[in-house]
Amino acid sequence: MKTLAIDLDSVLADTMLLWADEYNKRRNTNIGKNDIISWELPEVFNMAVEEISEIFTHIWDRRWKEIPPTEPDIAKTTNLLHKRGYRISILTKRFRPSVVNVAKWLDLYNVYCDDLLFVYDDRPKGEYPFDILVDDAPVNLMNIRRPRKGILYNQPWNKDFVWPNRISNLGQLNELI
Ligand SMILES: [Mg+2]
Repeated sequence: MKTLAIDLDSVLADTMLLWADEYNKRRNTNIGKNDIISWELPEVFNMAVEEISEIFTHIWDRRWKEIPPTEPDIAKTTNLLHKRGYRISILTKRFRPSVVNVAKWLDLYNVYCDDLLFVYDDRPKGEYPFDILVDDAPVNLMNIRRPRKGILYNQPWNKDFVWPNRISNLGQLNELI
């Protein structure tokens, strides 16, 4: 059975919509997700890494119920992939305090998964066991070598990254894998 690893933030959960909203509240600005054109957030927003992280912590702590899914059918799509014979592994790097609410969020949206891997340290995702990884962050895909497959989930900050396998929604996985 092949394992399909799926990233959480910005692949299943549209976290950066809330991140932008929280940023706007703090800075009295009006940015949207599409203004996040690079993953180098400290440079794009002239912000300390600590504050960027603090916003992530805050939204998963206090506003997690407001975080929408990236697409309406994540329950159906993950269930279908499971029925097609894939083992679904949610692979997410995060701060430990957000773990409980992440599990609740996945339940709230009925996301199908066979396991849930929280990475607290800097171990590269590529060192985890999977056959296919879907992620929005180029850095997580760069070291994946055949026969394993890295699939980039389109987001405004990864548009310029040259990568052969891209999807705009998880349903497109059916044609790619
Ligand atoms: Mg992500």
